Amino acid sequence: MSYDPSNVFARILRGEIPAPLLHEDDRCVAFRDVNPQAPLHALVIPKQALRGLVDAGPEDEATLGHLLLVGRNLAAKLGYPDARYVINHGAGAGQTVFHLHVHVLAGRPLAWPPG
Ligand code: 5GP
Repeated sequence: MSYDPSNVFARILRGEIPAPLLHEDDRCVAFRDVNPQAPLHALVIPKQALRGLVDAGPEDEATLGHLLLVGRNLAAKLGYPDARYVINHGAGAGQTVFHLHVHVLAGRPLAWPPG
């Protein structure tokens, strides 16, 4: 399926929906989830228009790694040594916004497996 540029994260990237940024660099931004599931619930998203993980190719390897390192650094900077990093891919796996994103969850005990 093709990338829909009207998704909310594309709109955040264009500044059409406000989202105070926790981090920004040339490849990604991070901001807090509007419906947090933990004391820290951040989303790290690439600036690149990628619908989901399956749409990333070998040329996106560095970007994918970068999202994880930015998420990890953010959790550490905000004082959370333990954190969970989640990518939901596809509606059946819980993806609701079709712009690739890494959830960073921390600050409470996190059960396994997730629901
Ligand atoms: P998904 O379910 O696709 O893995 O995650 C999408 C996340 O985006 C959800 O946790 C949802 O709460 C969050 N979200 C949806 N719309 C907005 C928004 O307008 N602003 C922010 N900051 N988060 C949003």
